[in-house]
Amino acid sequence: MSEECVRVAVRIRPLLPREVLHHHQVCVRVVPDSARVMLGSDRLFAFDHAFGPTATQDEVYLSGVRPLLGSLVDGYNATVFCYGQTGSGKTYTLGGRNQDEEGGIIDRVAQDLFLLLKERRKNSDSVETTVRVSYIELYKEELRDLLELHTTQKELHIREDEKGNTVLVGVKEVAVTSAEELLSVLMVGNALRHTGATGMNEHSSRSHAILTLHVSICCHQNSSLISSKLCLVDLAGSERAGKTANTGTQLKESSHINTGLLALGNVIRALSEQGRNRRPSAHIPYRDAKITRLLRDALGGTARTLMVACVSPSHHFVAETLNVLQFASKAR
Ligand code: ADP
Ligand code: MG
Repeated sequence: MSEECVRVAVRIRPLLPREVLHHHQVCVRVVPDSARVMLGSDRLFAFDHAFGPTATQDEVYLSGVRPLLGSLVDGYNATVFCYGQTGSGKTYTLGGRNQDEEGGIIDRVAQDLFLLLKERRKNSDSVETTVRVSYIELYKEELRDLLELHTTQKELHIREDEKGNTVLVGVKEVAVTSAEELLSVLMVGNALRHTGATGMNEHSSRSHAILTLHVSICCHQNSSLISSKLCLVDLAGSERAGKTANTGTQLKESSHINTGLLALGNVIRALSEQGRNRRPSAHIPYRDAKITRLLRDALGGTARTLMVACVSPSHHFVAETLNVLQFASKAR
């Protein structure tokens, strides 16, 4: 499993109606029937999956995420994260936030996870399953609980237990028993998500949001316990500070966000190198940022990771798209 522990998908969103209106040109395409992407006329990048503007939410989910659910209920941790500039489709891909949009990864995970668990219970009366959800935000290297409505200043601490599991001390975990319950918890958290106005996009997200599903399957008959987690991560925009012409406090925010993304990139690269060389002893720099400390037990080791790199097709963003494609192709 080690050589395929990090998989990378690229998704190119369609031009938005206002981009069509302003005659934006398409500068990036999927090479037909391949997992490769061509930027301009001569830059080719290879991935595990490549999705063009007509790809459905189902296609993205089924090829990249569904396989992780199977290993989740077998006891393996997994992480899915969306990387890309603001406006590239990260939040759309992870979970449709508008009623009229097709549901994204989170919606489909919610449906299928409870079906899988029901299946497990059907096999034996003595099997008990639980799903607990936590939802946090990382903003300027500070953790915030998105499910704790009243105490937004509450301190959360990242610890590691004796088995090497990451524990977030003080986080609220909500038990859910259906997809609907899970999605309504998510909506409560989304209402609290930090958004700041930037020159580039009013609702640009400058924080990382991490939804974690803690799954346990207890079999009383043979007293076995499977316990694992799936982290679904909507990363902050990958754009550089200079690009959005921000000044003052927002520039500082950008530099913090880049620390996290940089650290994540280094961890992913170290893991994929380890996979290629089969050198399990290599140093993985988890400790460099909170995001990598948090995801430590869900990235690498026996955990499986999918990175979805989201890009805009517009020639206006060609420089940032190049950055994202380079970052993503180095992660494999
Ligand atoms: P991000 O979270 O990366 O900032 P969003 O997910 O908010 O970006 O996407 C920006 C806009 O593009 C939204 O209006 C969204 O509905 C639209 N969009 C993104 N991806 C797609 C897609 N694959 N198909 C149709 N619309 C999309
Ligand atoms: Mg977003």
